[in-house]
Amino acid sequence: MNHGWREACGIVAFSVPGQRVAPRLLLGLLALQHRGQESAGIAGWEDGRLRLERGMGLVSQALDPERLAAWSADIAVGHVRYATVGESAPAHAQPLVVSSRWGPIAIAHNGTLVGVRSLRAQLAAAGARIETATDTELMAHLVALQPEPRLEDAIAAAMRQLEGAFSVVLLAEGRLYALRDAHAIRPLSLGRLDGGWAVASESCAFDHTGVHDAGEIGPGELCVIERGRLRRRQVLAPVREARCVFEYIYFARPDSVIAGRSVHRVRERMGARLAEQHPVEADLVVPVPDSGLAPALGFARRSGIRFELALVKSRYIGRSFIEAGEKRRAAAVRRKLNVVRELVAGQRVVLVDDSIVRGTTSARIVAIVREAGAREVHLRVASPPIRWPCFYGVDTANRIELIASEARVEEIRLRLGADSLGYLGQDALVDALELERSRLCMACLDGSYPTPVPEAHFGPAGRSDDAEERER
Ligand code: SF4
Repeated sequence: MNHGWREACGIVAFSVPGQRVAPRLLLGLLALQHRGQESAGIAGWEDGRLRLERGMGLVSQALDPERLAAWSADIAVGHVRYATVGESAPAHAQPLVVSSRWGPIAIAHNGTLVGVRSLRAQLAAAGARIETATDTELMAHLVALQPEPRLEDAIAAAMRQLEGAFSVVLLAEGRLYALRDAHAIRPLSLGRLDGGWAVASESCAFDHTGVHDAGEIGPGELCVIERGRLRRRQVLAPVREARCVFEYIYFARPDSVIAGRSVHRVRERMGARLAEQHPVEADLVVPVPDSGLAPALGFARRSGIRFELALVKSRYIGRSFIEAGEKRRAAAVRRKLNVVRELVAGQRVVLVDDSIVRGTTSARIVAIVREAGAREVHLRVASPPIRWPCFYGVDTANRIELIASEARVEEIRLRLGADSLGYLGQDALVDALELERSRLCMACLDGSYPTPVPEAHFGPAGRSDDAEERER
């Protein structure tokens, strides 16, 4: 269930010599639609020049398949975007294009930089004409201002100056570049096809485009793809990896594989561990759709309690977070979810959800299940309590809005109106991921940030000052 914990962007790129790649790239963007619905865009390299098409809304609204089918570009990058702060605007749709002495550079980014205020000032002082409030544009200007004669070396030099999360594809001079921060915070998959290469935020973008998963762009790596050849260059020295655990908990599609782990399988294991940690006498296990589905399956199998799809989600209602204010958000939950009364009436129900952010949505869901006649409602959450904001590409609530930032579990239970409440423990989450804790970012859970986060980032209300001036 989307509780206002928002991912910012998905990226995809193709380079297949002699083939029109725009139609394939469009399919890849459709597969990544869950990562951003504010705008979409494609930039392609055609006859020695850059072509660009961008628009607002869903991929199907923003991009015209017929026009893209006419593109002869055999190399292209694409993007779907969430506006993390402020209103979404056409000028912020990506790929962004910045002029440079190597010609136009098209860039698409997933992540968030740390320290954008000083970077912006530094670039402005160096004469960059900054036209948007995105850190993506700052990155492109930083590359353009490097003194290195070769673009590849300028990108490498810029990477060394950046702090924060960046998974990026960049198109210039008929070459495709893919780069990732040294902590590998946001995912970036590599794929192989027909003598060419593909890059995408998630491997699900490959499944309908004839691409074989070929691993990932490594932490701190810069990949250069030209005329079907891939060259890998380790630019940044190894540091502690910090892969975002929320990609597995909520953001990524279940049919994606990240760092060799099936997202669906990880979620099932989280549900099974949750059942072990917080057993309960009940009649049925009900997932909160959609990301509660896999953990609820795991919970039901491990506990032996019957699995029932008793919550039905309408696919055609706008996302609840768009509705500002608690009352309107609660009304939106009501419109978005309905209960199969015949299944829950008189029953002891275990509701399984992926996470709780503010608690508003969860309280409404508990209430509507009770109103439908459930005798008991037990809430099980397939992630640990979220206590801290994210600075790496996720638009989080203010810290004071996070229900678990100060409150203990029993207090949260009372506020949500559940008969019992159980969160997955941090160690159990790590077990389910089957990745070492030292390779994960769990900062929103444990407050341990993998990069320096200046105190000012927390601001008076616990929100990043950078975030307030940023738009992506
Ligand atoms: S703080 Fe949380 S949401 Fe942000 S990157 Fe780390 S684990 Fe992911």
